[in-house]
Amino acid sequence: MSVAIVGSGLAGFTVYQTLRRSLEPEQIAVFGIDDDPAAPFRRRAAAISQREMRSESDGHCLATTFPGLSFRSAKKRKSLVPLVDSVRDRYHPSVDEFLDHVDEVRWRSGWDRSMRLNRVERVAAVDAGFEIDGHGVFRHVLIAPGHPGLNVPADLRDDPRVVHAYEPHVHASTVTVVGAGLAAATEWLNALEAGAEVVSVRRREPVRRPLNVPRHYFSRRGLASYHRLTVVERTARLQTLLAPSYPPGRRFDARLERATDDGAFRVESSVNGSEQVICATGFRRGFRHDALLARLVDEHGLETAAGWIVLAPDSTVSALTDGTRTLALAGVSGQWAFPAADTLAGARYAGRRFLQRIRSCRTR
Ligand SMILES: Cc1cc2nc3c(=O)[nH]c(=O)nc-3n(C[C@H](O)[C@H](O)[C@H](O)COP(=O)(O)OP(=O)(O)OC[C@H]3O[C@@H](n4cnc5c(N)ncnc54)[C@H](O)[C@@H]3O)c2cc1C
Repeated sequence: MSVAIVGSGLAGFTVYQTLRRSLEPEQIAVFGIDDDPAAPFRRRAAAISQREMRSESDGHCLATTFPGLSFRSAKKRKSLVPLVDSVRDRYHPSVDEFLDHVDEVRWRSGWDRSMRLNRVERVAAVDAGFEIDGHGVFRHVLIAPGHPGLNVPADLRDDPRVVHAYEPHVHASTVTVVGAGLAAATEWLNALEAGAEVVSVRRREPVRRPLNVPRHYFSRRGLASYHRLTVVERTARLQTLLAPSYPPGRRFDARLERATDDGAFRVESSVNGSEQVICATGFRRGFRHDALLARLVDEHGLETAAGWIVLAPDSTVSALTDGTRTLALAGVSGQWAFPAADTLAGARYAGRRFLQRIRSCRTR
């Protein structure tokens, strides 16, 4: 066996689907601590009662963008509406539809035959590839460990009223939601729905956009200009792009306007005396918080910038990739190559390029 994926979440799973175009399950080892690829996503989406995906028809786990989930939905519902909505960038699959798709693809692709339930402590470059703990040497390795834990602002860590939005919770009657992204916006509506009085605390005004980074950065042209940025410019660009945002539209605005008029929703600059404080403050940022990535960087002296591992445009680590072996990153740790790496489209981007590398090594 010559190919391994470390991390069995949605990014590793999406990369796996791309690899399956050329490789059999027995030729791929997937290391992870959960064999359900949707487990972390499922838990977090359930905690904030998210019902609709932010992504559109292409937010799926298969190797090619088309046919996407709108096509699947049109077939199932015997209706053209999902396809028409998709053309207008208005189609968003439900979370349930998406999770059904993951289950379907999991069984069909042979994922469970490739799974090895192990936490990986170390990936080390050796002559013929990469040694993964005591599990052998693999010529091509892609690491997709996901986010390195939930982020709670330092001044709130010891506050007994605090729960992170991605942890299970029910709403108290007075709630402060800290944050300004989609999880925060979803929690404003959830808490109002539960009859709570809601205070929003945010460091800056939320950005309103449909996808988590501007559409431009999903295109070949947008990416080409992103890849031309210097290290300093790219760091600054990523910091701007990854600021919290949520989609524009009446779904949020109408409810919030009504609640503001009724005195049930207001914005404040700091945490007040609410019974409950929900931190919709995302994840810890940077490879240093992930023991596997930190060790990889330290042991191999890899180039980094402000918490990101510096990658080639194809999401590989240049210092450890050549005509005989590949080390690539996917998911949030691939942001240096693809700003929206922490999406399904981003995982597909890394997966396709990983497979290209594997194929080009085979033909040498
Ligand atoms: C609520 C929510 C809604 C979202 N909505 C969308 C959407 O609409 N569209 C979209 O495209 N994206 C969406 N995303 C983003 C994205 O799809 C997820 O973040 C995705 O789950 C990332 O997958 P991942 O594999 O990188 O990380 P994870 O799903 O967290 O999986 C990582 C896996 O690797 C394992 N692992 C970590 N370290 C090791 C190790 N050392 N050894 C072995 N295993 C390890 C972990 O245990 C975990 O199982 C959403 C995310 C959230 C939280």
